[in-house]
Amino acid sequence: MIVILKEKPESKQLDNLIAWLADRGLTPHITQGVHQTILGLVGDTSRIDIGLLQQMDIVEAVTRVQEPFKNANRKFHPLDTVIPVGTADIGNGSMTVIAGPCSVESEEQIIAVAQSVKASGAKLLRGGAFKPRTSPYAFQGMGAEGIKLLLAAKKETGLPVVTEIMDISQLEYFADVDVIQVGARNMQNFELLKQLGHINKPILLKRGLANTYQELLMSAEYIMASGNENVMLCERGIRTFENYTRNTLDISAIPALKTLSHLPVIIDPSHAAGISKFVAPLSLAAVAAGADGLIIEVHNNPACAKCDGMQSLTPEQFQNLMQNIALVKQAQTQCK
Ligand code: PEP
Ligand code: MN
Repeated sequence: MIVILKEKPESKQLDNLIAWLADRGLTPHITQGVHQTILGLVGDTSRIDIGLLQQMDIVEAVTRVQEPFKNANRKFHPLDTVIPVGTADIGNGSMTVIAGPCSVESEEQIIAVAQSVKASGAKLLRGGAFKPRTSPYAFQGMGAEGIKLLLAAKKETGLPVVTEIMDISQLEYFADVDVIQVGARNMQNFELLKQLGHINKPILLKRGLANTYQELLMSAEYIMASGNENVMLCERGIRTFENYTRNTLDISAIPALKTLSHLPVIIDPSHAAGISKFVAPLSLAAVAAGADGLIIEVHNNPACAKCDGMQSLTPEQFQNLMQNIALVKQAQTQCK
């Protein structure tokens, strides 16, 4: 339920309203805009007499939210959520690029890639340590040791780091990680999502291979309902009948998710394409469509990568792409 207040509500009246709601077991989520104050009510609103609420002096209107996602809903929170990480403010209208290898492979590799992507303008470093692989015989990642190396690269370059958690038992290794990624395969691991709601680190939540926007937003809701509102939504390609590319990048996800939700939208063109040559055009399309960020795989020697070399850019290709991203971003900002 959403309660829209009249312009410039008196603080005493607002306090009374909050106390009235508290008596009914509800703590409002307050959004203070320039002209409007909105109270979002999550939980059991059945004990609320809408008629009574509508008659209150400071109340302009009351509406019920039909969608099952509340905290993630733009109706609850009309302003864009901005998540600060390092020098980036993700969601404020700028373009944040996260880059790095699919997997951390060695100290030399991760530091070299970190230095090069930083020099090209990436604001965050990615690198998988716990890897969800289709085959149990494939490289499974370096685990806790990989996170240590990622943190060594952070120390060396100052870049905040993003890495994937596969199970809550791994959380002890994530104390110094800046952004925790929930991979596509874990998007509906509800126990994991609930636990991540109890910490206050930003979460990069990837869309499952065959999940709808609403399902993605319901997964975000799990994290938010447990208290962590710092969620970024990531479209990384979905499974369609097309099998020339690894997945199909759903560009519609950008305007659709930004309409439905106030959370930042990040695009992963690498896992969508599966082919390095397609990463640049997909990245530029995402920037033009208004994405808040990109997460791109970059490897210093893609031919020898332990994972996803085919879709990884070389540092030179990444540098060239960053220049083109800046050009498209400039044009996108000027669009009316
Ligand atoms: C990854 O980012 O390394 C990854 C495994 O991505 P996804 O969960 O989108 O497949
Ligand atoms: Mn990968």
